Amino acid sequence: MAAVGNVLIVGGGTAGSALAVLLARGGVAVDVAEIKPDATALGSGITLQGNALRVLRDLGVWDRLSASGYAFDVLGLRAPDGTLIAEIPDARTGGPDLPATLGMNRPELAAVLAEAVRDAGATVRFGLTVTALDDSGEHVAVRFSDGTTGTYDLVVGADGIRSAVRGLLGIDASPKPTGMGIWRIHTRRPKDVERTDLIYGGPCFIAGYCPTGPDTMYAYLVEKARPRESIADADKPSHMRALAEGYGGAWDEIRADITDPDRINYTWFESLLVDRPWNRGRTVLIGDAAHACPPTLAQGAAQCLEDAAVLAELLLGGDRLDQALFDAFMDRRFERAKAVVEASVQLGEWQLNPSPDADVPGLMGRISAIVSERP
Ligand SMILES: Cc1cc2nc3c(=O)[nH]c(=O)nc-3n(C[C@H](O)[C@H](O)[C@H](O)COP(=O)(O)OP(=O)(O)OC[C@H]3O[C@@H](n4cnc5c(N)ncnc54)[C@H](O)[C@@H]3O)c2cc1C
Repeated sequence: MAAVGNVLIVGGGTAGSALAVLLARGGVAVDVAEIKPDATALGSGITLQGNALRVLRDLGVWDRLSASGYAFDVLGLRAPDGTLIAEIPDARTGGPDLPATLGMNRPELAAVLAEAVRDAGATVRFGLTVTALDDSGEHVAVRFSDGTTGTYDLVVGADGIRSAVRGLLGIDASPKPTGMGIWRIHTRRPKDVERTDLIYGGPCFIAGYCPTGPDTMYAYLVEKARPRESIADADKPSHMRALAEGYGGAWDEIRADITDPDRINYTWFESLLVDRPWNRGRTVLIGDAAHACPPTLAQGAAQCLEDAAVLAELLLGGDRLDQALFDAFMDRRFERAKAVVEASVQLGEWQLNPSPDADVPGLMGRISAIVSERP
């Protein structure tokens, strides 16, 4: 017997899909309302840390992910000309039997999760969102954008950083730009790119890349945020190539591939932290809807997956849904997510405004220690 019989999850991204799998497999009737017309996902690559992999393994998708992604355990630091400065063993935050890091193509990750959601027996309705929530204390009556209605024991807002559910709950929180912008390209993997190598310095704050499969990788350049509306699609390659001119080594090959505007993405770093509790009555936020960080620690998806794992464990192990359950969820999730958001922002802040007190290795080590513990 679980604390809920049926659940609506709004948003079928990383957090929503993970929760759908765990709850449906535990015998809960799960509906997912996803605003996109289908399960395909855009985007380049993603760096999944060990603590994300631990949850993905619990979802039963590790074999598929490890077969298509690119695992590595060492981080390289290089000078702008490509000279290797240091090789740093990455913390295996998911435990010794998982790699420290797995690079993945985002569409592949989305496809694997979508299949797991289907296999678990959850119902996914695409092209749909919620327009109203009415919480009676016993149930939540939901109105959908297609005019249909439903009644659920629990509604979960897993609808990302610009969450509509957050707005429907009257939670006044919105993402804040951190002052940095990132250029990303999904491209061919040069043969000698076998892990992430970061360059701090040169024309950008950070130049980096992450292999995502035998033939693919993504590369990125982080600079001071520029007005997004001033960047025409057709000009994206020339902007990114100009910045990439400042880097050698593997960047010589990467630069030559920076030609197709459709493979280049420019976005700002943003952060968000909803104060605890993340629920109002029987509706709760998880994932980026509740906390989002710039990818300076590559912990965003990991924190979303941990939300899903902890909430599922409490719901499946409980016998009633009350504030005590949500408080227990917050006790295990809030401080941890807050530490990751604040550290991710701080790392960027130290680059924007250098400080003699900056202790990058110390901060990274503290976060590694935190996320290595099970949430
Ligand atoms: C530039 C950048 C790089 C990043 N790199 C990394 C990285 O390397 N490693 C890492 O771990 N994290 C990274 N992240 C963070 C990571 O991508 C996010 O933390 C994670 O994807 C959030 O998952 P989510 O499921 O909460 O939200 P999302 O992935 O945004 O999913 C939300 C889902 O809800 C749907 N939706 C939205 N609105 C509605 C609505 N009203 N109704 C119904 N459905 C809706 C969306 O279509 C989507 O499918 C990065 C983020 C950025 C911005």
